[in-house]
Amino acid sequence: MNSTTNKRIALISVHGDPAIEIGKEEAGGQNVYVRQVGEALSQLGWQVDMFSRKVSVDQEDIVQHNSRCRTIRLTAGPVEFVPRDNGFKYLPEFVEQLLEFQKQNSIKYELVHTNYWLSSWVGLQLKQIQGSKQVHTYHSLGIVKYNTIENIPLVASQRLAVEKEVLETAERIVATSPQEKQHMRTLVSHQGNIDIIPCGTDIRHFGSVDRQAAREALGIDPQAKVVLYVGRFDPRKGIETLVRAVRESKFYGDKDLKLIIGGGSTPGNSDGRERDRIEGIVNELGMSKFISLPGRLSREVLPTYYGASDVCVVPSHYEPFGLVAVEAMASGTPVIASDVGGLQFTVVNENTGLLVPPQDVAAFSNAIDRILGNPQWRAQLGQSGNRRVMSKFSWDGVASQLDALYTQLLQPVKEKEPALVSK
Ligand code: UDP
Repeated sequence: MNSTTNKRIALISVHGDPAIEIGKEEAGGQNVYVRQVGEALSQLGWQVDMFSRKVSVDQEDIVQHNSRCRTIRLTAGPVEFVPRDNGFKYLPEFVEQLLEFQKQNSIKYELVHTNYWLSSWVGLQLKQIQGSKQVHTYHSLGIVKYNTIENIPLVASQRLAVEKEVLETAERIVATSPQEKQHMRTLVSHQGNIDIIPCGTDIRHFGSVDRQAAREALGIDPQAKVVLYVGRFDPRKGIETLVRAVRESKFYGDKDLKLIIGGGSTPGNSDGRERDRIEGIVNELGMSKFISLPGRLSREVLPTYYGASDVCVVPSHYEPFGLVAVEAMASGTPVIASDVGGLQFTVVNENTGLLVPPQDVAAFSNAIDRILGNPQWRAQLGQSGNRRVMSKFSWDGVASQLDALYTQLLQPVKEKEPALVSK
């Protein structure tokens, strides 16, 4: 690839806007992934356009992240928040708007990287209409999700069909962990091309605040034993398990014990309801003086929270990758995580933290006690986690793997190839 104009890509993330606040309803790992991948690719010379659906009249139509990377918000359906399970009907308009944007700007995206199943449908249309090549990252697989929830949404059959079609027809699927690839193969289809390229983290940002400075900044006593949760308020994140596990810890009742639950929510929305439910449990168990709920943690303040904590707990029922675990490890903080999905790939049991069965209160409690009870081992786990993230999960490393993949997909197909294949 010699000309920079050829290095053009559309990252499509219909419901995961890469330019908005992270840590609130339906804004989490996918938004971070798209933004970080987009910005890192632009540093490698790509012209990156990230497409999302506009959800508020206050939002700008175009946000320029740097001279080669921007978020473009298309109007498709009502300009308001729509839960992702209700978003499918607005996709044809999204495709139309994207084609219109191309026309107005004399651009054609030869390559699109779609994120989550809604965007994968958009990519499938662009492939049909104009032959765009497609790379897809699932972020969540319907078939896995529906096994862990009680109320299956109406859109389920549509989602499962689209997820199978994209696996079988996209030029490449990006699985973010070997466990996710395994699920695609066993639960979705044996056909299709899958590469494993993990999610990454900003290794310069996380780990930038040491423990003493972090505790001073947050007003936390040097003696305190601090357990941290970071993430969205969603029942499938398992916050209830963590609260109950802290209640059962042998350190419970010790004035030094503290549980911080960081994550944003909006009253009346689904994350607001989950926060209310969690606060109800906290009150019922009489734990309020041990727990703080600081709300959404900004990107700027996150390294301070990770740095100040003795252990970060990721109690999700399922997690295809789990960015929080790598952010904590990058910060030198050991992780206790559910033994599921991508967490089995990022967290090395007994080496960078502990893996325990999901929703098992006693197992989480025991793991918390083991780590809080042994500060020297805690420090060793933290250092190993930091080394693991440095070597495997930097955004720069992830972006250079994607760069190589995109470059390969955009190579013109050699004319002689069909003859060779048929031989
Ligand atoms: N996050 C944040 N502030 C918060 C809560 C979460 O910035 O208050 C970020 C967190 O640091 C991580 C992302 O949201 O980068 C969550 O990603 P993860 O893969 O752990 O979970 P998901 O939201 O995708 O289920």
